[in-house]
Amino acid sequence: MTPHTGTKPWNVSNSMRANKPPDFFIPVDEEEIIREKRKAQTLRKSQWWKNKRACNQCYYCKKPFPARSLTMDHLIPLARGGKSTKSNIVPCCKECNNKKKYLLPLEWEEYLESLRH
Ligand SMILES: [Zn+2]
Repeated sequence: MTPHTGTKPWNVSNSMRANKPPDFFIPVDEEEIIREKRKAQTLRKSQWWKNKRACNQCYYCKKPFPARSLTMDHLIPLARGGKSTKSNIVPCCKECNNKKKYLLPLEWEEYLESLRH
């Protein structure tokens, strides 16, 4: 048996402190955005995206749309540190896409909230 040093594993509770609020104002490297945009373009040509779009429905307003008219949208915009990963990309109608562009993040949240009722 190995001798026990007697130190308590108190660092367990210490690791629970990573509960920081998200910071939306982290400046994002422009090159990083270009790189992520390129990744999005590749994904747009993929079978994954064709399947995703084939649901014929906007992710946000849930209205039916022909797959052709659905655009690719980043749940977390690239400008706010979002990535071109499959989990961050959703099919979105033009109306929602435009709204997301011109609304403030808070107004967009309100819009999403209004769609749920
Ligand atoms: Zn929509």
